[in-house]
Amino acid sequence: PSSFLEVRDLRVHFPTDDGIVKSVDGVSFALQKGQTLGIVGESGSGKSVTSAALLGLHKGSRARVSGEVWLDGDELVSMSEQDMRSLRGNKVSMIFQDPLSALHPFFTIGAQIAEAYRVHHKVSKAEARDRAVEMLKRVGIPQPERRVKDYPHQFSGGMRQRAMIAMSLVCNPELLIADEPTTALDVTVQAQILDLIRDLQEEFGSAVIIITHDLGVVAEIADDILVMYGGRRIEYGSVRDVLKTPEHPYAWGLLQSMPHLGGDVTERLNPIQGSPPSLINLPTGCAFHPRCAFKDQVPDDRCSTERPELLPVPGTDKHIAACHLTAENKIEIRSAADRLA
Ligand code: SF4
Ligand code: MG
Repeated sequence: PSSFLEVRDLRVHFPTDDGIVKSVDGVSFALQKGQTLGIVGESGSGKSVTSAALLGLHKGSRARVSGEVWLDGDELVSMSEQDMRSLRGNKVSMIFQDPLSALHPFFTIGAQIAEAYRVHHKVSKAEARDRAVEMLKRVGIPQPERRVKDYPHQFSGGMRQRAMIAMSLVCNPELLIADEPTTALDVTVQAQILDLIRDLQEEFGSAVIIITHDLGVVAEIADDILVMYGGRRIEYGSVRDVLKTPEHPYAWGLLQSMPHLGGDVTERLNPIQGSPPSLINLPTGCAFHPRCAFKDQVPDDRCSTERPELLPVPGTDKHIAACHLTAENKIEIRSAADRLA
């Protein structure tokens, strides 16, 4: 593998009484140190399951995982749970959406950060506690020497998120995965947390994966973007290419549901109609076709019968998308949309 992280044809399938839930079905991407990938999609698109599989959280469960995940020369899908445990929280770390589910209510913030450090480092309790204070300071908690003795419920939502980031970063992870890290926070705190992740990334040179349904977050922080639908990749490329000329109608919908810059942040135009597909029985052809407003522009019902391949977008270095519309179709649709705007 030529990249720090290389994911090849990752599949995560869950056998259930109703059939096999294909949460992740053939996902590939690569990421270098110091770079950020944004994984975007609705809930149920497979973005959280993808990241959980990167951390080996499926090990010991009934999930069937195949494909390869290469991290700095190690292959993680076939790695034993024991070896994985020495990576998790150390070389690879995760920031969860809900800090309360990751922080234990009965232990102080400081004790939890110190413990996360001691799991991977042979240091005294006092040294680990100093490290916890240092991390709280680093993530911008005021009076860290005092706050280190607080319990999670004594912290505000934004401070708990910072405390969890401190815990995730205490071992200087080389790969940091942040699953909806700002969803529960108000806009100001959101911006601060994104700044913090970006600063820490610069300082430690980690690779970062940020999972979100919010393209605004991706535009703000990511280098590359992966758009998932029904457990599959439907578009991938640099943020610059994809946000400038998204190729897939689902990505158009996501972009249109972005709050308009400078406008009312609650204004959401034209959100995608309909609901996410069943992961047990994905629609035939293009999985997005039941919701796509443009399928009639493709002749012979190909959208409902033939699965579109991921094809390179000419003139870009890695932008790919899976849609049967021709380049001419897309130009027409885009200029019609511009006329309406
Ligand atoms: Fe829409 Fe057809 Fe493109 Fe799928 S392949 S996104 S249904 S136009
Ligand atoms: Mg999720």
